[in-house]
Formats: sequence, C-alpha cells, structure tokens
Amino acid sequence: MAGYIQVITGSMFSGKSQELSRLIERALIAQLSVAVFYPRLASRGSARDIEKRLQGLNGTLQIFGVPAENAQSMLAMITSAIDVVAIDEAQFFTQELVAVVKRLRHDGKRVFVAGLDLDYQENPFGCMGDLMCLADNIVKVHAVCTGCRTADAVISFRLTHESDRVVVGENHYTALCVSCYDHAR
Ligand SMILES: [Zn+2]
Repeated sequence: MAGYIQVITGSMFSGKSQELSRLIERALIAQLSVAVFYPRLASRGSARDIEKRLQGLNGTLQIFGVPAENAQSMLAMITSAIDVVAIDEAQFFTQELVAVVKRLRHDGKRVFVAGLDLDYQENPFGCMGDLMCLADNIVKVHAVCTGCRTADAVISFRLTHESDRVVVGENHYTALCVSCYDHAR
C-alpha cells in the first residue's frame, strides 16, 4: 500500500495536537498499529498532552521521545508492524526529518506530522515548509486571536523577552492575528 503524508499546522493554541490525537484515535479504532514520536526537547509540551489524551484507548500505540537533532533514530523503532507514524512538535526537529518522512512514505506508512508553521518572529519554523511541500494533504488550524478575540490568530507572540528561537512553555506565548501582532511588538 502506498504511503501518505498529512501535515497539521498552525500557531500555538490552534488545536494541532487535538487534531493529531483525533487522527490517531481513528487509526486505533481501525485497529492499526501507531507509533507516536516527539522531540525530547519538547518533552514538557503537547506530546505529553497527547499521551494523556490517548491513555485508555485500545489498539497498538507506542510513544517515543527522540533527540530533536536525530530524527533518523526514529527509523530503528518503526518496524514493519507499524502502520501509522505520528510526529508531534515537528518544527523542533532538524532538516533530517524531511528524509525520514520521505522514506516512511516509500515504505508505505501513513505519516501524520503536526508542528508550528511560524516561529515567534513570523518566520517559517524548521523544516515545516519542506514537509508541507511533500505532504499529500495539509490542514491549517487557527486559534482565535487573544487581542481582538475576533480574527484567526496567525502568530505565536512571545510574551517574555528571551531572544532564543526555541523557548518552550505555553505560558510564554499568546496567539495573535497580524494586526494585533503589529500593535503588540
Ligand atoms: Zn487580533
């Protein structure tokens, strides 16, 4: 069977992980075997939420944290018995993830990839852009802007003053639309 790549993307608080969980749940109901991966860097993030959300579901579900700079290490854990590979917080992985996802599609896996499209400065995040090019299907989800509470949020605005690209923690961010972002920065 041919493989398939689905990308789920959007800002923080947009429901990416919920959408990923929904897809995983469907796969488990269909009695498929699912492996979920998240970068260890983000181990305090939504991958743990996913774990909580998925607890108690029947089916074959394994969850692995792998080093963000070593996406290749996933391949050793993905046996022929695995039908579905779900990758959360994909923006934190290096470019290596692109080759891994390509390889999985050739191997006939259904691959669900969830990650931020943009960093806190409105720049494409990690290899998410490349993954969207490769994808058979892309779902963009949106939070409601916490500024105007009307428009769709586009940017994960950083509320704190760190300048590192990666600062993990939902309490450091809020989701804003473009106009509110322009007013806030
Ligand atoms: Zn707004």
